[in-house]
Amino acid sequence: MSRIYMDYAATTPVHPEVVEAILPYFSEHFGNPSALHAIGQEAREAVETARDSLARLIGAEMDEIVFTSGGTEADNNALVGTVRAAGDRPCHIITTAIEHHAVLETCEDLEKQGTRVTVLPVDGQGLVDPDDVRRALTPATVLISVMHANNEIGTIQPLAEIAAIAREAGVLFHTDAVQTVGRLPVNVNDLGVDLLSLSGHKLYGPKGIGALYIRKGTKVAPLLHGGGQEQHRRAGTENVPGIMGLGVAAEIAIRDMAADAETQTALRDRFIRGILDSIDHTTLNGHPVKRLPNNVNIGVAYVEGEAILLNLDQLGICASSGSACSSGSLEASHVMLATGCPPELARGSLRFTIGKWTTGEEVDTVLQVLPDIVAKLRAMSPINNPDRR
Ligand code: PLP
Repeated sequence: MSRIYMDYAATTPVHPEVVEAILPYFSEHFGNPSALHAIGQEAREAVETARDSLARLIGAEMDEIVFTSGGTEADNNALVGTVRAAGDRPCHIITTAIEHHAVLETCEDLEKQGTRVTVLPVDGQGLVDPDDVRRALTPATVLISVMHANNEIGTIQPLAEIAAIAREAGVLFHTDAVQTVGRLPVNVNDLGVDLLSLSGHKLYGPKGIGALYIRKGTKVAPLLHGGGQEQHRRAGTENVPGIMGLGVAAEIAIRDMAADAETQTALRDRFIRGILDSIDHTTLNGHPVKRLPNNVNIGVAYVEGEAILLNLDQLGICASSGSACSSGSLEASHVMLATGCPPELARGSLRFTIGKWTTGEEVDTVLQVLPDIVAKLRAMSPINNPDRR
C-alpha cells in the first residue's frame, strides 16, 4: 500500500541532500571537534560551517547559535537558564496557554521552585493579545515566552508587537519557533527576540538536533555542565552528523522556502475548502490567514478525531488529531481547549500538515475518502448527532 504522509508538523523526512551530506560524518570524518589533529579539525570545520548556515537562515551572528539536542532542550534552556541567570531575585515569567509542553511543563517545574508564572489566554483563533502581555508585566518579570506559530492549529503570533513591549519593559523575550524556522522567513532582528528555539527534524534535518539562538549579551545559564563546548553554554561532545544535517537543511530552506511556502499555501487552501464544502458540521480551527502555510486543522463535530485517524491509517493516510505527544490519549488538546472549544468538539479535531513532497493528487485522495469515513463514523457515533435524531 502506498502511504500518504500528512504529518509534517510532527516530523519531516530527512532531505536526501541532507542524508548524502552527513553520511561521511559517521565514517571518515568521525573526529571529535575538540581534538587538535586533522581528523578533529575536519569535524570542527563541519560544525562551524553548519553554524554559519543556520545563523544566515535566521539572521543571527554565528556566536549567537548554541546547538542543542532539539527544540525541547532549547525551550528548557531558554526558560530555566534565564531564571538561573537572574540569581536569587524573585522571578516571574509570562507565557501562553497554547505553548508546547516543552515550555508549559518547564514553567510548571520552575513554579514548584518558586518562580511565578502567568499563563495568558488566547482568543478563539489562537491569537495572544499583546495588551494582555503588557498588563501581565510585574517588576519581577524576567522573561516573556510566546511561540511563533502553534504546532496544532498553525496560528502565527504577533511577535514583533510583543517584542516591542518586552523591550520597553527591559524584559527578555523568547520564542519557540520550532514550527516556523525553515517554513516561514524568520529573522531574529525583525522579530525582536532575545532567545529563539528551533529543531532540525521539522525542517528536513535529522531528529535529536536543534539550536537555541541567544542574542549577544543575553545572560542565560547553561543546563549542562562538563566540557567547554559551545563557548561553555552547552557541554558535551557535539553531535557532528546532526549539526551538519541541520546546517545543510538550513541551506536548503534558504534556497527553497519561498517556493515551498507558495505551493503549500495553495494546496492548504484547496484542502481546507474541499473539506468544509464536502462535510457538514466542520469548521476550520485556528486563524484563516495568520496561519502556517502547511497546516490544515479541522473540527469535525459528532465524531472522535482518533476514530477518523484510525480509519485514515487503514488506507495508508498519516495525519494527527493533536500534537504527536498527546495523541494516543483521548484527552482533548490543551490548545483546542484554550481557544474555547468545548471538549467534545476538541476531541473531533483533525490535523493534516503538508510538506515539500505533498502532491495535489494526495490531497484529492484524502478529499475523496474523508466524507465517507466521517459519514460511517457518525452513523454509529454515540456522540449526540443531530442527523441521527
Ligand atoms: N516546540 C514545538 C512547537 C514543537 O512542535 C515541538 C515538537 O513537536 C517541540 C517544541 C519539541 O521539539 P523536539 O522534538 O526537537 O524536542
